[in-house]
Amino acid sequence: MRTIKLAFLGTVVALLGGLAFTFSGPAIPAGSPVSDPTGTAPDRYVYYPGTEALEEGEIRIIACGSGMPDQRPAQASACFLFELGNGDKFIFDIGSGSMRNIARLMIPYEFLTKVFLSHLHTDHWGDLNSLWAGGWTAGRPVPLEIWGPSGATEDMGTAYAIEHFLKAYNWDKTTRNFKITPVPGQITVHEFDYKQVNEVVYQENGVTIRSIPAIHAGDGPVSFILEYAGLKVIFGGDTAPNKWFIEYGKDADLIIHEAFNPPGVFVTLGNQPPQLAWRACCAFHTSGPSFGKIMSTIKPRLAIAYHSMLDLGTQQYNTYYDGIRSTYDGPLSIGADMMVWNVTKDKITERMAVATKNAWAVPGTTQQPPPQPGIPDPMSDFIKGGEWGPGFNAQNKLLDEFSERYNLQEQDWRPAEVWYKPEEDDEEN
Ligand SMILES: [Zn+2]
Ligand SMILES: [Zn+2]
Repeated sequence: MRTIKLAFLGTVVALLGGLAFTFSGPAIPAGSPVSDPTGTAPDRYVYYPGTEALEEGEIRIIACGSGMPDQRPAQASACFLFELGNGDKFIFDIGSGSMRNIARLMIPYEFLTKVFLSHLHTDHWGDLNSLWAGGWTAGRPVPLEIWGPSGATEDMGTAYAIEHFLKAYNWDKTTRNFKITPVPGQITVHEFDYKQVNEVVYQENGVTIRSIPAIHAGDGPVSFILEYAGLKVIFGGDTAPNKWFIEYGKDADLIIHEAFNPPGVFVTLGNQPPQLAWRACCAFHTSGPSFGKIMSTIKPRLAIAYHSMLDLGTQQYNTYYDGIRSTYDGPLSIGADMMVWNVTKDKITERMAVATKNAWAVPGTTQQPPPQPGIPDPMSDFIKGGEWGPGFNAQNKLLDEFSERYNLQEQDWRPAEVWYKPEEDDEEN
């Protein structure tokens, strides 16, 4: 153990009471002391997105949505981003509001293309539109891929949902197809049988993802089991306690599973009638005590409870926590938006991400292609005929400079416009 001299405290050893730490090598243990009052504090128990490479065999999980269908700024609906040491990134559910949290991580959109949907409630896929269209605008060069379950009938399955999602957003799609380029707006769907038990739905690059049926509201929902580098991580989606989870969840390193507020909270804070509240929490979802029973049976290295509106430090929060603890005393995280876990064979760390709310899109390795020729212009001559020339020409100086900077002379779209008056003409007048 090395002794760190602190100018104002003598030695840190006295302070730490023999706690072991090391500064050798690149890895600095969480919460390590600051050795120099004028220096840096590299680790404050927080995760700064974009600053840490993943090791081979490591998984980083970020809660981008821990909440409910009812929206609140503090908690988006269900969404967990998995980043793997082999470079893979998977989005497990993309509930309403969650894209704002994903965007705060400032990951190039070309790396955010693989989405796994546990089921088709809006609080689990309601922000797909933001990833789809927002990522398209923000330079994603490739289509999205979605894995999701079938339903009892064709019109209850993921393929149907995505086909009609694209129909609902037809105006958005058609205009972006023309103005941007069509490929990033495409969605490839991999629908699998919701009844399959522990069958593979994805297997590539050392990663295997299986599904098991979930019990929730109707046929279709599933839970996902991801295996990578000898690690087993489960994303439960929405499910009431079920036999498949108990059987195939065993040996899991980390489990993300719903745990609902008790029914009284839905009545007093959630404006639900009591007849609904006690079914919602406890018939087609999993309550705190039931969550605890599942985890004390499976005994994962870490259990993560999510899918409840929670206000830390309140009696409501404490009641929720006590409900889980009434049946489980093992390792537990109560999921919150932007909570981060790094998982390896040796350890699991838990931190909060510190990320800007003023996020921008960042470049990856591939640039989006230019507009594809031959796509019909969705704007009529009638509407185009309403363009007011002086307004457009007012930006000519700006656009000339931009054209110069990026060598766009060949692609100048202005000369074809009836209103176009080049900058030189203006000067002559
Ligand atoms: Zn649901
Ligand atoms: Zn849900």
